[in-house]
Amino acid sequence: MMNIYNPSNEQLLKSVEEDSSQTILDKLNKLRHGQLLWSQKTVAERLNCIVKFGALVQSNIDNLAKVLTSETGKPIQQSYNEIRGANNRIEHLKQNAEKWLADNVIEGLEGTYEKIIHEPLGVVANISAWNFPYNVGYNVFLYALVAGNSVAYKPSEFATLTGLAFADLLYEAGVPENVFQCIVGDGSTGQAMLEVAFDGYFFTGSYPTGLHILKEVAPKMVPVQLELGGKDPLYVMDDVKDVKVAAVNAAEGAFYNNGQSCCAVERIYVHENIYNDFIKFFLEEVEGYVIGDPESENTFIGPLTRKGQLNLLRNQVDDAISKGAKLLLGGDELAGKGNFFAPTILIEVNHEMLVMKEESFGPIIGIQKVKNDEEAIELMKDTEYGLTSAVFSTDQARAEQVLKIMNTGTVYWNCCDRVSPNVPWSGRNKSGVGTTLSSQGIRAFTQPKAYHWREV
Ligand code: NAD
Repeated sequence: MMNIYNPSNEQLLKSVEEDSSQTILDKLNKLRHGQLLWSQKTVAERLNCIVKFGALVQSNIDNLAKVLTSETGKPIQQSYNEIRGANNRIEHLKQNAEKWLADNVIEGLEGTYEKIIHEPLGVVANISAWNFPYNVGYNVFLYALVAGNSVAYKPSEFATLTGLAFADLLYEAGVPENVFQCIVGDGSTGQAMLEVAFDGYFFTGSYPTGLHILKEVAPKMVPVQLELGGKDPLYVMDDVKDVKVAAVNAAEGAFYNNGQSCCAVERIYVHENIYNDFIKFFLEEVEGYVIGDPESENTFIGPLTRKGQLNLLRNQVDDAISKGAKLLLGGDELAGKGNFFAPTILIEVNHEMLVMKEESFGPIIGIQKVKNDEEAIELMKDTEYGLTSAVFSTDQARAEQVLKIMNTGTVYWNCCDRVSPNVPWSGRNKSGVGTTLSSQGIRAFTQPKAYHWREV
């Protein structure tokens, strides 16, 4: 049995039965049967179930938000935001999926024609993360289902109850049980999924686990897609219209969901001409955040989902201070029960420090002063990750000069920490391989078959 705890008070929420190697195999076989019929349905029929699922989620939002908050510690208002916001994937699929999955016919000469059809992969494994289980879950399992695959969805061990709720609501919406199955457990259960023959592996999580999966699955020669972490930079230029607004937005990008977003702002560079004002406003903003019970509507900073992250953050703070950084705010965990870490601001930082190089995934930020755009570019590019980069500036051309040379899947001008179904979501280097969202994101769950047809 696997115990699920509330990270804000460390109380046991529930014990759930974990899957074994045998039950994973049984579920895979069941999903293989189900996929044959499911793939023969029209895209519109499959879409219909997904749209119903979306409506059921919204009508159960009060209960679902409570569940999400209880197992991850996400402040309740942010749980509502996530559940409402994720519905934009369903709207986007509704408008586009039939078009994206339609055959492409190319008329040839003398009675020949060619055709591309987009066949589903088959039974796909979706091994997922806990930080935004609706967003990152939907990006994979909904698109996979609409494309005609069946799905073995393994929620993170820190978002299991949410994952089980997805299964119940998908069934209620008409997705057959042999088309979607939840696989319950921790990393060892994920490992067992690598040892059977899925037709594709779609993973969201950390770089070390992603690398491990890539290596383990390589001999199977099936598609593997990895949505991994980041060390996303934000550069605040000296021409921003309002330094206070820039500071408020930067702080939200760094601290929303307690900094536990794959595209959270993880390091900030500020032009020296506005540096002092920026720091003043940034500090004021973060000092005003309400920390505490995630079930309270006013809370902006709740507990960290994973206890182990407290050590990583403390280590980043100690390392930075030992190398000359100045601690402006926070710096340690809060006394009492729960995985609370104080929002932490470090200045006078540099790239010798872990806080500017390693993913923090928590409520901590390093802010570095830069002389000019060239210095900012050099520092922004000094990373092994490649998820997002952001610039705040009134001058679009100047911002674009910086952003076009960033080796990241996403770039932001005057915004950050944002994902949209209209555009592809992808990481480069240690941030991952492959794409979700947009037309490219649905193609990830298909394989092309080329027809060469000649009438005689
Ligand atoms: P994690 O790597 O610890 O776990 C992710 C999943 O992998 C979990 O379901 C876990 O049980 C499973 N797992 C662990 N070991 C495994 C193994 N040996 N074989 C198979 N599965 C295994 O990551 P996490 O803590 O859940 O998520 C946080 C990370 O995810 C951060 O680095 C964050 O940046 C990243 N993330 C990326 C995106 C993105 O879209 N790029 C989105 C959300 C989160």
